[in-house]
Amino acid sequence: MLIISEETCQQVIDRSDAFTAVENVFAAMARGDAYNFPVIREDIGHADALYGFKSGFDRAGLVLGVKSGGYWPGNAEKGLTNHQSTVFLFDPDTGQLKALVGGNYLTAMRTAASSAVSISHLSREDSKVLGMVGAGHQAAFQLRAAAEQRKFERVVAWNFHPEMLPGLAEVAGEIGLPFEAVEREQLGAEADVIITITSSHEPLMMKEWIKPGTHLACMGTDTKGKQEVDPALVARAMLFADEVSQSATIGETQHAVSAGLIDEGAITPVGKVINGAHPGRQSENDITLFDGTGVGLQDLAVANVAANLAQERGLAGLAEL
Ligand code: NAD
Repeated sequence: MLIISEETCQQVIDRSDAFTAVENVFAAMARGDAYNFPVIREDIGHADALYGFKSGFDRAGLVLGVKSGGYWPGNAEKGLTNHQSTVFLFDPDTGQLKALVGGNYLTAMRTAASSAVSISHLSREDSKVLGMVGAGHQAAFQLRAAAEQRKFERVVAWNFHPEMLPGLAEVAGEIGLPFEAVEREQLGAEADVIITITSSHEPLMMKEWIKPGTHLACMGTDTKGKQEVDPALVARAMLFADEVSQSATIGETQHAVSAGLIDEGAITPVGKVINGAHPGRQSENDITLFDGTGVGLQDLAVANVAANLAQERGLAGLAEL
């Protein structure tokens, strides 16, 4: 069995590896070659923690496994990341444990890769202004991955906690993009691509603020009750998701679905666009919205790449069960 530490994951996997792994697995899901098993998520009644499993099988890539982990709100005080996860990969031919892979860094990489895949396939080619709503841990990863998809000329950003914005400005500076903190209305008026990556439970971006041709990647809503955009905006947009049923139940589209503004049939798996089975954006004026709820197969895909690269480079630990 291979052991791939958090540190090794950071050493071996880069954004293009994560992008390709996530793009391939979304395509496999849309072809019916890969599927996610039902998600388990439990409030364990200890340390205020939420704990669960996300698992699946990719028959095309022969990747089988589970991501186990959750959210421990008291961890920050102990100098640890609140979100904790570990990926277990199994040999699909024998069921034997193949690798144990640290999942924290990979979660941020695969989540950023997901919105980057959507930007690459759905945003206008001439997108120039990137709008960031959110400035937490994931936002920095999102900004770096998005910046590689289009020739962005600047970043406009808003955050509920404005004191967090200088951290994101630093990331923009590192990649050579001018950065401006703005109000949300201005962000909507100027941005060609908008990423939302917050833990909000209320709409932050309203329909009337968004200009025609915008692409939105809504990445923060991954639980019932969370919300980042106006349901009327969801109803107005061409909708895409990593996994349609998850989007309609725990993702950003949940609110428009429960209000009866749309039904699940209005949402297209982004993998269909990747496979060429759906044209995606059809005009320069379409508003496209990708709902990235996060699926186990993304975690398994990037963990598998990390395990293979670490093994190739002699960086994987070895252990017997
Ligand atoms: P974080 O705690 O580092 O940052 C939280 C962000 O949300 C900050 O920008 C903060 O200012 C903002 N925020 C907090 N309370 C808010 C409120 N009431 N209204 C508006 N904004 C508020 O968290 P993170 O790790 O950056 O994660 C951000 C979100 O992304 C979380 O909701 C997390 O569950 C979600 N997430 C989704 C995926 C996915 O695959 N879709 C993966 C990882 C994380």
